[in-house]
This record gives sequence, structure tokens and C-alpha cells, in this order.
Amino acid sequence: MLTILIMQKKVIYSVYILKRIARDLMRFSEEELPNEALAKLIGYRCLFEGAIYIKITDWVTGEFEKTRSSASFTNKGLRDCSLMLSERYPDSINPPREIGLFHSHPFGTEPFFSLKDLSTFLLFPYGTPGNVFIIADPISKYFKVFQIRGAIDGGLFLAPIKYVLYST
Ligand SMILES: [Zn+2]
Repeated sequence: MLTILIMQKKVIYSVYILKRIARDLMRFSEEELPNEALAKLIGYRCLFEGAIYIKITDWVTGEFEKTRSSASFTNKGLRDCSLMLSERYPDSINPPREIGLFHSHPFGTEPFFSLKDLSTFLLFPYGTPGNVFIIADPISKYFKVFQIRGAIDGGLFLAPIKYVLYST
């Protein structure tokens, strides 16, 4: 009976991440140690029963400048990402699109966004409601997921969210 009651309580998740992608991203950030790792999150914006949710189904990366506490794509890296995406889905009618960013903070602690992170994510071209930002630490194994939401005053903020890891 208890199980049934829990199932009936409606829980709305807004971000679904393919399990394999989450695993790949963590492995990628391990490979980049001691530096930060950086990748674009790829997926779909979906509508189900009037609610928008995000599905993360892939990731791409390219050349990026990296240190132990920073990472940013070079212009070549941005082109690398576009090319990788178009080559991976050449004939797709509904190809997945960039839906946010992943990066790591390899400090061995619980990761938090820096002020620079926040100013990057909340502004163009990333600052769109629904976009997802993942921060992970390959040493402490934290994997935290945030989503851009609209604030009452019309601004944007990054909300920490619960997410679903799914497999196909
Ligand atoms: Zn950061």
C-alpha cells in the first residue's frame, strides 16, 4: 500500500539524462585531470502534457583552453563542436541541439559555480530558460545538474534540480 501511495504522488522531473552520457562525461573529466573539462550538452526540448522537459542524449567537445580552474572553447573548438554534431546527425529531420554546457571543477570538493560561470550561463548564447548546466568533480564524484528558470522579476536564475538517469 505504501508503494502505491508514493507512486500516486505526482513528481515532475524536468531533466532526463541518458545514463551512458552521464558516465561518458564523468570519464571525460577524469581524462582531463588535473585540468577542467568542457563539453556541450546535446538533446531535445520536449513537450509532454503541457510541460516542457529536456532530454540530454549526447555531448560534443572540441579544442578548449584549460587550466586547473578554467576552461573555454577556442573559436576552432566551437567549429569542432558544430562539425561533430552535423556529422553525427547528417540525415536527421529532427536533430538534437545544443541544450547547455558541462564542465568540471577538479578540486576534490563539492563543486559550486563561480561568478564567471554564472555570468556565462545566464547570458547569451547560453541564457535560455530550460537550458541545462552540469558541473562535476571527477575526484569527489559530485555530479550536479542545474536548469535555467525564469524569476518572478523577469530575470533568470540557475536552479539546482533533481534529474532522471535513463537508459534505452
Ligand atoms: Zn566553473
